[in-house]
Amino acid sequence: MYDVVIIGAGVSGSAVARELSRYNANICVLEKCEDVCDGTSKANSAIVHAGYDCEPGSLMAKLNVEGNRMMGQLAEDLDIPFDRCGSLVVCTDENERGGLDRLLEKGRKNGVPDLRIIERDELVRMEPNISDTAVAALFAPTAGIICPFTLNIAMAENANVNGVEFRFNTEVYEIHRKEDAFEIITNNGTVFSRCVVNAAGVYADKFHNMMSAEKIHITPRKGEYYLLDKSAGKHVNHTIFMLPTKMGKGILVSRTIHGNLLVGPTATDIENREGNNTTREGLDEVAEKSALTVKNVPLRSVITSFAGLRAHEDHHEFVIKELEDCPGFVDVAGIESPGLTSSPAIGKMAADIVEGIFHFAKKDRWIGTRKGVINPAKLTMEERNALIRKNPAYGRIICRCETISEGEILDAIHRPLGAKSLDGVKRRTRAGMGRCQAGFCSPRVMEILAREVPGVSMYNVTKTGGGSKLIVGDIKDTLEGGAQ
Ligand SMILES: Cc1cc2nc3c(=O)[nH]c(=O)nc-3n(C[C@H](O)[C@H](O)[C@H](O)COP(=O)(O)OP(=O)(O)OC[C@H]3O[C@@H](n4cnc5c(N)ncnc54)[C@H](O)[C@@H]3O)c2cc1C
Repeated sequence: MYDVVIIGAGVSGSAVARELSRYNANICVLEKCEDVCDGTSKANSAIVHAGYDCEPGSLMAKLNVEGNRMMGQLAEDLDIPFDRCGSLVVCTDENERGGLDRLLEKGRKNGVPDLRIIERDELVRMEPNISDTAVAALFAPTAGIICPFTLNIAMAENANVNGVEFRFNTEVYEIHRKEDAFEIITNNGTVFSRCVVNAAGVYADKFHNMMSAEKIHITPRKGEYYLLDKSAGKHVNHTIFMLPTKMGKGILVSRTIHGNLLVGPTATDIENREGNNTTREGLDEVAEKSALTVKNVPLRSVITSFAGLRAHEDHHEFVIKELEDCPGFVDVAGIESPGLTSSPAIGKMAADIVEGIFHFAKKDRWIGTRKGVINPAKLTMEERNALIRKNPAYGRIICRCETISEGEILDAIHRPLGAKSLDGVKRRTRAGMGRCQAGFCSPRVMEILAREVPGVSMYNVTKTGGGSKLIVGDIKDTLEGGAQ
């Protein structure tokens, strides 16, 4: 019997797991995918929002501003790249200036520090590629950019080091309230727990509605993006937003923490909770609307496109509470944007709720820090040479676009909750994220996975777990019709 079962190893579930790992409790995370960070947390804008556009007084506003404030220390503790580059909401029509004033007022009510409206002259000095129609902007210096993958992975890794168990490829089907525990039925057997934390992303309403008479409803709201090569990464210096609409923050243009340029997302309500494909219309909208705020976006440097699904709750609010009609069941639902930003505060709030019910004792020894995969590119030449002398694998470059060495890939595979697939390696090291999008390094990373991961051979290495096998058989067998 567990004390706490958390459903979902996205950024929310992992943040809750890390916060709860401070206590003497038997905790398990159940995740249907083969790795952490395989839901919405892997496909978003990766902006640490300042917090001026949430409704004052909402939980979303409170946790956004708190999460933003906590992010600097968390990034340091967990060795995650984070840059407070600042954001600009650009107004391109004199008649819409009121929109900036309203955001400024909301931001001040939400407690966002150092917000101010800047005029065109200053804006052009800050952003030479700003649109010729830009008249003014709201400048938020506390906004930032982060790596969404390592934020999620690092919190999960740290929770695991502090004793939280993670069960992957484990899909929760049903939950039943028994006298003194929840019975949780999965594809991998039944588990029992005194408490359930529902952090299932776009599926969180399904579990909430299983347990409560008060129903909630989540709509998957798709956002599509173009990602551009690093050669385009300096096209803007800040994150550039348009004025928000009722569907969200609109199309942004931003450099990423790793130096690429990101353009998107759209906002389209869909029914399919797995519908994270891109579309021609969506990407055309990205191209068209990005030009409203930033000129000459070099779209010929696109290296990939992707889409993510926001878990849009009907009231556009985070739902983080113990169910009144089902004690011990705690929702972390409706976590749409700014969920990534808010995640440190979401983790703390949900853990406080659970602790308030069960009064777990604090551990005498809790490890609050973690070291990321060593990046030789960040070392001095002397340090790099010393590292390679000690471990020659750091001298063998596997991904040429991102200059990722075998040493980094081995570290990603063998660390706690290590990588088991190509995407697992990619999200931990960036191998395969460069200009050629894994065209050259895939076979070499596959060889390393087949050599290093127990139970994995060249024939069953996957892109991202499940049925995403990369090799269907030997060419000779295939040609002779003998492929299995
Ligand atoms: C287009 C877009 C742009 C965004 N931009 C930003 C941004 O710039 N800044 C920001 O702060 N936020 C942003 N967000 C929001 C942010 O990405 C999300 O709020 C956050 O990632 C949600 O994390 P989560 O853990 O709640 O959900 P998820 O990451 O989806 O995790 C849920 C997990 O639950 C698992 N799961 C589901 N059902 C089951 C089951 N039955 N059994 C077991 N496991 C299950 C899933 O596999 C998944 O891993 C954006 C979102 C989108 C879509």
